[in-house]
Amino acid sequence: MTSVLWFRRDLRISDHPALAAAAAEGEVVGLFVVDPRLWASSARRAWVAANVRALAEATGGALVLRYGDPATVVPEVARSAGASTVHVTGETTPYGRSRDARVAERVRLLETGTPYVVEPGLVRTRQGGPYQVFTPFARAWRSEATQAPFPAPEVTWRRMRNDARATAALDEAIRHAPAGMPEPGEAAALARWRAFRPSLSSYAETRDLPADDATSRLSPYLKVGAIHPRTLLASTTEGAEKFVTELAWREFYADVLWHHPESAWSDLRPLHLPYDDPGDAVDAWREGRTGFPLVDAGMRQLAAEGWMHNRVRMIAASFLTKDLHAWWPVGARHFLELLVDGDLASNNHGWQWVAGTGTDAAPYFRIFNPVTQGKRFDPDGDYVRRWVPELAHLPGRAAHEPWKHERGYDGGYPRPVVDHDEERGIALDRFSRRRSPGPAPPGRR
Ligand SMILES: Cc1cc2nc3c(=O)[nH]c(=O)nc-3n(C[C@H](O)[C@H](O)[C@H](O)COP(=O)(O)OP(=O)(O)OC[C@H]3O[C@@H](n4cnc5c(N)ncnc54)[C@H](O)[C@@H]3O)c2cc1C
Repeated sequence: MTSVLWFRRDLRISDHPALAAAAAEGEVVGLFVVDPRLWASSARRAWVAANVRALAEATGGALVLRYGDPATVVPEVARSAGASTVHVTGETTPYGRSRDARVAERVRLLETGTPYVVEPGLVRTRQGGPYQVFTPFARAWRSEATQAPFPAPEVTWRRMRNDARATAALDEAIRHAPAGMPEPGEAAALARWRAFRPSLSSYAETRDLPADDATSRLSPYLKVGAIHPRTLLASTTEGAEKFVTELAWREFYADVLWHHPESAWSDLRPLHLPYDDPGDAVDAWREGRTGFPLVDAGMRQLAAEGWMHNRVRMIAASFLTKDLHAWWPVGARHFLELLVDGDLASNNHGWQWVAGTGTDAAPYFRIFNPVTQGKRFDPDGDYVRRWVPELAHLPGRAAHEPWKHERGYDGGYPRPVVDHDEERGIALDRFSRRRSPGPAPPGRR
């Protein structure tokens, strides 16, 4: 019997329960649909396209490429292949869920597994509700996260024609890839994991140092499912607790989004703060010319590589929300536009965590000082000099404070767009007014 495996966020062959389920039924039509609704951000589009190409190669060219609304295209492909079932990895984002519901009205859609170790929505408190806070979630999640990886199935692929619009869309997307985009595909993901594993024992000490590049850099692969987190979890070594905790954050945010789909673009815990309208300073933030070296280094890394170090994501996000007082979706949208690992759950809840509207109970005091953070986490200034050539002449940690050096601005680096201490005061004031009884302070959203 022929069935269809519709690939989405699961662009791999191994440890793929839905593919194993399809292969067990007989011939498999491997299908990828270029959905114009999801074909928006150019960096992510390029990354997805490159991974689709790698998957096509891994299937010996049998992957069927189509273009259009999946609710029309997927049933059509199933009908012309004579397949009664379309197998998928379950999708958990708001758009993915509604899209799949529309497809399921027209064809038998069978979900096996999700892009997560534990299906979002499954980890519950004793009372049966969702977890609101990370630590107890992570503990409960760990005890559920026991499934072993699935062996790669023997697949007999069934070939069908490709849609020229789909192949053109992939080619066009790849042409606009960020220069620093990593090697795509499952083999590259597994190689990256193998290369990173020996560093797991030092990960907890070095993960916060952006100059060391000591994190796994697996987020782009996890995003498109070139590797499954179950594969990672099953081969973590002793001493990898911190790394496992980071994987749990990814699962937590997917769980939060599953329970609160509306929190994708609105405050999970509304603070009703006044926000400022994006203006020139926000453009400076986007372009990496705020005059705060660590923020600018991060924003330039983002533009060049489609990726930014986690510590710097937090500082850049804090700067936009607490120093420039912009509402977090302004920054979240920009990140999703440029990140190759851009992920609605991790990104938008990462932003809300920083902004104080998310899952954290004590956001009030979290206003990162970009300069002290820089001196602490980039103590030799190497990360800043790598991305901000205008500061290359300043040795060591001096790169974090050009204003303290006579020749600090010789390289043409811009002066700070705001006074951090002043803006910190304004942010705290807005927070405290919001927390005291009475009407919200005036201001624009
Ligand atoms: C404002 C902001 C926006 C973010 N946007 C995204 C995003 O769009 N996509 C994304 O995958 N991650 C996002 N993160 C989380 C984190 O920054 C990245 O996952 C991490 O930097 C990826 O690098 P890595 O693979 O080397 O991570 P490692 O340190 O090697 O961690 C391993 C894996 O754990 C997961 N992980 C680690 N930290 C987090 C975290 N804080 N939240 C959720 N998952 C985590 C990722 O899947 C990561 O690949 C964001 C964080 C912040 C503060």
